[in-house]
Amino acid sequence: MTADTITAEATAGAAWHDVGFLALNAGSSSLKFAVFPAQGETALATGQADRIGPEGTLKIKDAAGQPIEPAQGALTSHDTALAIVIATLKRAFPDLRIAAVGHRVVHGGIHYTAPVVVDENVLQTLSTLSSFAPLHQPHNMSGIRAAMEAFPGVAQIACFDTAFHRGQPLVNDMFALPHRYYEQGVRRYGFHGLSYEYITGEMARIAPHLMAGRVVVAHLGNGASMCAIYRGRSVASSMGFSALDGLPMGTRCGQLDPGVMLYMLDQEKLNTAQIRQILYNESGLLGLSGGLSNDMRTLEEADTPESHRTIDYFVFRIQRELGAMAAVMGGIDALVFCGGIGENSRVIRRRVCERLGWMGIEIDHGRNAESATVISSEFARTTVMIVPTREDLVIARAARAAVGLPETAAT
Ligand code: ADP
Repeated sequence: MTADTITAEATAGAAWHDVGFLALNAGSSSLKFAVFPAQGETALATGQADRIGPEGTLKIKDAAGQPIEPAQGALTSHDTALAIVIATLKRAFPDLRIAAVGHRVVHGGIHYTAPVVVDENVLQTLSTLSSFAPLHQPHNMSGIRAAMEAFPGVAQIACFDTAFHRGQPLVNDMFALPHRYYEQGVRRYGFHGLSYEYITGEMARIAPHLMAGRVVVAHLGNGASMCAIYRGRSVASSMGFSALDGLPMGTRCGQLDPGVMLYMLDQEKLNTAQIRQILYNESGLLGLSGGLSNDMRTLEEADTPESHRTIDYFVFRIQRELGAMAAVMGGIDALVFCGGIGENSRVIRRRVCERLGWMGIEIDHGRNAESATVISSEFARTTVMIVPTREDLVIARAARAAVGLPETAAT
């Protein structure tokens, strides 16, 4: 095989051990990616292009965590960023053929309940959904278009953050608005579905007795949400129509009385762009802390009145959501933490679990400090766990499945 095989126009004739799957997550100014082999959970390489534009940077590392020197070139657009990523991978893995590319797509609307192979019809549908997620969907689509150009003839698989929640009960799918809005698609979609899908699969593997019951997953990262999962299915989620609802996030407001927006419009005379900027980029942890930081680590270290009130609010909203989700399911068997904060912050986990003995939640402080998989105390009625999430792997699995490669395929 030649050095340009990573641009693989086809995988015909390639042995599975030469075949790779690319998982892409194209955000507004970033492109996260991971290349997986035909089998297994360890990526051959992972990386991220940030601040795509004149100041763009690219970091990439191999399976051992060692940095891979990026190919030269300016990261001026998603297309050029992807071209540089491909050139870098080509040099690092000259024999690898990309058999399918999986994409994280924020919105799958009311119809997509599973990953789908992208064709012109799908692209058309996805672009109509851009009005529901104007800040994310167009970037996801540029990632798909760029990959289509870079890998002609290679299957592109769209994996939706909404799909996991699509079977939610009607009461959790509606807003109490005139019903025509529901018909138009103004519904509670819920997001972070790829993460919840991964956690559900992982829990079914490591704790099937819990997954058969009532589980609340708290995905606490820069974006944060919670999901009530009853017998493996999403029955309630904290995010709704957009990725703004529910918990406060790094810079997003979380649950907000819509009257506040009317106040901004009527009294402050702000326009929608200004309001969008406030709700998406200036609120959440950043807003609560008076501009101190959107980053939980910084807030935990700060130890100031501003950081205290911010953490108090974050914890309070999680506890409130947890109570509501337990009520919806008639109880709770397990609480699972994931995401950058959920996986790493012992302070937040401890604070969330405080005073929840009435729910059977009681953590073992030693296990929590070690970030063990099970952090609840031995005799607690509710199991509290940390399960690191892997959205990239869910995407890679969908890409493998699309070309008929089962998880257990021999290489
Ligand atoms: P994203 O939603 O962008 O994927 P992550 O899941 O990476 O975000 O989560 C980022 C958040 O995790 C940040 O607020 C960061 O401060 C927080 N975080 C990461 N490590 C720690 C830690 N050791 N202690 C507290 N917070 C942490």
